[in-house]
Amino acid sequence: MSPLDNIAKLSHLTRRDIQKNWLIATAAGKPIQPVTLNEKQYIIWPAGRQIQYLTQKIIVPEHLAGYPLEGMELRLILTWWAEDVKIYVNNQFIQAGDLFDSSTRILLSNSVSTGQEILVTLRLVSPNHDIGGLMKSELIYEYSQAIDPSFVADELTILHNYLQTFYPENLAAFTATLDNIDWNNVTNKDKFNQSLESIRQSLQLLAKPLKERSFHLLGHAHLDMAWLWPLAETWQVAKNTFISVLNLQKDFPALIFGHSSPLIYEWIEKHHLDLFQAILEAYKGQSWELLGGMWVEPEVNLISGESLFRQLLYGQKYFQEKFGQITKTAWLPDTFGFPYQLPQILKSFGIKYFITGKLHWNDTTKFPHGFFWWQSPDGSKILSLMSPPNVAGVMDTNPIIMTDHALNWERQTGLKEIFWLPGVGDHGGGPTRDMLEVAQRWQKSPFFPQLKFSQATTYLNSLETSNLPIWDDELYLEFHRGCYTTHADQKSYNRYCEILLYQGELWSSLANILLEIPYPKVEIESAWKKVLLNQFHDILPGTSIPEVFRDANQLWRQVISTGEAILDQSLQAIANKINLPNPPHSQAKPFLVFNSLNWERSQVVSLAVESFNCSVYDLNNCLCLSQLSHDNQLLFLAENIPSVGYKLFWLVANQPAAEQNLTNCQFILDNGLLKVTINSETGDIDSIFDIINQKEILQAAGNQLQAFKDQGQYWDAWNIDPNYQQYPLPKTVLKSIKCLECGPLRWQIRVIRNLADSEFCQDYILEKDSPILQIKTIVNWQQEHTLVKTAFPLTLNSNFTTYEIACGAIERDHEPESPKWEVYAHKWADLTDKEANYGVSLLNNNKYGYDATNQQLRLTLLRSPRWPDPEADLGKQEFTYAIYPHQGNWKTAKTVHHAWQLNSPVNVIFINNSSRSTQLPPVAQWLKFSADNLILMSFKQSETASRGWVMRVYECQGENAVIDWQNQLQLTIKESIDGLERAIDPMEQISPWQIATWLLKN
Ligand SMILES: [Zn+2]
Repeated sequence: MSPLDNIAKLSHLTRRDIQKNWLIATAAGKPIQPVTLNEKQYIIWPAGRQIQYLTQKIIVPEHLAGYPLEGMELRLILTWWAEDVKIYVNNQFIQAGDLFDSSTRILLSNSVSTGQEILVTLRLVSPNHDIGGLMKSELIYEYSQAIDPSFVADELTILHNYLQTFYPENLAAFTATLDNIDWNNVTNKDKFNQSLESIRQSLQLLAKPLKERSFHLLGHAHLDMAWLWPLAETWQVAKNTFISVLNLQKDFPALIFGHSSPLIYEWIEKHHLDLFQAILEAYKGQSWELLGGMWVEPEVNLISGESLFRQLLYGQKYFQEKFGQITKTAWLPDTFGFPYQLPQILKSFGIKYFITGKLHWNDTTKFPHGFFWWQSPDGSKILSLMSPPNVAGVMDTNPIIMTDHALNWERQTGLKEIFWLPGVGDHGGGPTRDMLEVAQRWQKSPFFPQLKFSQATTYLNSLETSNLPIWDDELYLEFHRGCYTTHADQKSYNRYCEILLYQGELWSSLANILLEIPYPKVEIESAWKKVLLNQFHDILPGTSIPEVFRDANQLWRQVISTGEAILDQSLQAIANKINLPNPPHSQAKPFLVFNSLNWERSQVVSLAVESFNCSVYDLNNCLCLSQLSHDNQLLFLAENIPSVGYKLFWLVANQPAAEQNLTNCQFILDNGLLKVTINSETGDIDSIFDIINQKEILQAAGNQLQAFKDQGQYWDAWNIDPNYQQYPLPKTVLKSIKCLECGPLRWQIRVIRNLADSEFCQDYILEKDSPILQIKTIVNWQQEHTLVKTAFPLTLNSNFTTYEIACGAIERDHEPESPKWEVYAHKWADLTDKEANYGVSLLNNNKYGYDATNQQLRLTLLRSPRWPDPEADLGKQEFTYAIYPHQGNWKTAKTVHHAWQLNSPVNVIFINNSSRSTQLPPVAQWLKFSADNLILMSFKQSETASRGWVMRVYECQGENAVIDWQNQLQLTIKESIDGLERAIDPMEQISPWQIATWLLKN
C-alpha cells in the first residue's frame, strides 16, 4: 500500500463525512426529505435570509471499519456560509454562529457507547446578498489526551509533506515503516494502538527536523469598526471579545492576544474601566500586544498624507499615554492596497514593522514575497510581513492547514519560523477554547513543528533580515477596484474635510500667533478623530450597510460644522484687525481674499451682491476687471494673492459691471489661452485647442460620458466587473445646451444630458488667465449596476501615466494585460508625451478612480452597486474635474499646484467696518518657501502646546529642495521632528519625495 493509502485508511477508522445524511426539516425539526449535494458536496439554498432547517440522528456504531469506538470522545465538525446559525443537540441549544464565526468543532459526547443516539438540528439563515451553504459536516472520534487513528493519520500526513518537500531522500524509509501498521488487529484497539505507537517511535528520527521549525501563534480577532453592522454593535463585540480572551488566558496562561485600533481601547477605557485595567495588566504581563498604531485600521490609498500622519499621531499618542509605550508594528491585515509613501510615514512614528495579509486576495498576480523590505520613493525602508492567508474570517489551529501554510512559507522565504493568527475575526471573536486545546495537543506531538505563543513584534525581531528582497513600489491590491468610486458621498466628504481641517488649523494657528486668539486644540483634535474613524476600511471605501453611512454622514457634518466655524472665526478675527487704507469710495466695503496655499495665486472670485451695480477695487484703489455671472454674482479676478496670506479689496456699489454679451457664443469658449468647442448635438467637446502652443489635444470627442454594465461580482460594492468594457450602455442624449457666460472673466456653457434615467448637468468653464477647462457637474444618479467614466482621447502618446498619491506621485505603465486596469489617484493624473514635450493633466475635486491607455485618460465618475447598501449613490452627486493641457511635463507645468488650487479655493471675508485697528497690514504673506516644490501639508500647534508650532511639508516633484523660508510671524526653526514630534537629526536639505516636519518657536 502507498503511504497515502495507509494514511487515508487510518483516518477512516475514526472519521466520517456525514454531509449527505442531513434531512431537510420543518421549523419544528420534523424531517421532510433528504438533502441533495451540489458538485462541491455543499448543501445550498437561496439567498434573501431564507431559513433552512436540517436535522439528523447520529447513532454511534460499535466500530468504524473494525475499529471499536466505545469510550471515545465524539466531535461534530461543521463549516457554513450563513448569516445566522443555531445548533441544537438533543433539542438543547448549544452554539450560535454567523458569516464570520463560520465553523465549529462541537463536543457531542465525552465517552460514547454503542447505539447511543444524538439528535442534531441546525437552523441556518442565508445571507441577504448570497446563497446559503453548509459546506462540511464531519464526525470525529478522538482521544484528546492520547493518540487515536485520525490523529496519527494527521501526524503522518504532516511528516509525509515535510519529507516530500525538504527531505525526499527519506521518503522510502517512511513508506516502509507505514507498511508495519498492524491492520490485522484493527478490531483490537489496544493492540492496534500499540502498533501505531511503535510506528510513531520508529519515525521519530525522521521527524526530528520538524522540531527545528516553530509556529509563533498570536491570538487575534479582526474587528471591523462598522461593516455589515453599525458602530454601536462594534463596541459590544469588542467588549465581549476582550472579556473572552482574558477569561481564556486564565485557563491557558500561554495565550498571547494582539489587537489594534486605539479608538476601541479608548471606548473600553471610558465605558468599562475594569475591563480596561485588566487589559492593561495583561499588557504589562506581556500576554497582550498593542498593534497598528493608527487610530483605526483605515483605508490608506485614498486618504491624504496628513490623514496618514494623524491616524498615527493620535493612535501612537494614545498608546504612549495609556500603556506607556508606542507600538513598533503597523497592522493593516484587511486594507485594500497600500501607498508608496507609507513606509516613510510609518517610520516617522517609530514603527519598525508592517504586517498585512490582504495581498493574498490578488486576482491576477501572486504577490512574490512573504518577508521583504518595502521601500518608499525617498528610500525609507520598512520590514514587511505577509501574514498567513485568511479568506474565511476564521483561522483555527487545524494542523494540516497550518503546516500546508508553513511549507509554502518556507519555500517562499526560507524561514523556519512561522507566524499564525488563531481566532475568529471580522466581527470579533478571537481564539476559542477548542482552538487552544487543539494547539496544546499538537504542541506535544513529535510530528509537528514547535508551537508557542508570541507577540508579532517579538516574532519579527527574531527573524534574520539579511538578503531580503526589496519592493520599491506601491502595494497594489488586484481586487476591490470599485472602492475608489463607490459611495461618492464618502469620498467627497473626506476630501473636503481633509482640506477644511488643514485650513482651519493653519488659520487658527496664525490667529493665535498674530492676535493671541485662543487655539481650538480640543475641537480640532475631536474633528480629526471623526475624520479618522470615517476613514475606516469599510466606510470610506463605501462597502457597508446603509446604517453605517447614516452614522458616518452625521460625523462628517459635525466635522464640517466645527471646521467651518474654526476657519471662519480665525479669518474673521484676522480680518477685523486690518489697518485699513483710505477707501476708494465713502461707502466702499472692505474684504479680504485669503490664500491657504504656500504659493502666490490668482483666481476668479464670485461675490454675492445685493445690488447688481457693483465693482471691486484693489488695494491701490484701482478698478478690478469684473463681470456679472449668469446667477447674478459679481465676478472679479483676485490677482496675486500672497502665499499663506491675504489681500484687501473693496466692494463699491452703484458702478456698472461689464454687460453680458452672449450673442456670439456659438458654443465656443475662448479665453485667449484655450479655445474649447462644444458639440451642440452631443454636448461632448469637439476641440480643445491650446492657442499659445498651437496644439489640438483631442483626438476624438472629449468628455464622453461612457456608461458600462457593471454587475455580477460577488463583492458588489468592492469590485468593478473585470469585463465591464465588453458591456457598453447607450450613449448620453443631449437635452439642452446653453451659453451662460461669455467673458471677460469667465466663459461658461451648460450642457444637460440624459444617461438612461439619470441627468448630468455640466458646466464647461474657462476663467481669465487660466489654461484649465473646468467641468462642474451635478448629477441626478438613478442607475443600477452601472459604471460611468468620462473619457478624453488625446493626440498624445505615452506608455505610462503619472498619478498623484499621498505626499507624492507614481508612474504606472499601460501594459495591456496589467492588473492595474483601474487605479486610484488623489487630485490629478497626467499623461505626458515625452517626444512632443507636451501633456494633459486631468484634475478632480473629489474623485479617485482612473484608467489610462497610451492615448487616453479616463476618470471614473460613478458606480451603483446594490450590496451591502441597496441604495448606494442614488440621488444628487456633485463634483468638478478639469482638463489642463500643458507644455512640458506635469512638473514644469505645476500640475500639483493647480490641483491643490482646484481643491482649496480662496476664502473671502468681509471686514467689520466699525472695528478699526492698526495691528495687521492690508496685504500679507505670512509664509513662503523659496523652493516651489515644497507643499505645506500641516501647520498646527504642537501636541505639547508650550513647545511651539509644528510645520510639515512634502517634496512634491521628486527633486531636491533647499530649506529656505521667509515668514512674517517671527518664528524660527527650533528643530527637526518626527511624526510624534520628537526631535531628530537636523536636515541639511530636503531630498526627493521627502516629508519634513519642524518644530517652530517664537
Ligand atoms: Zn476588515
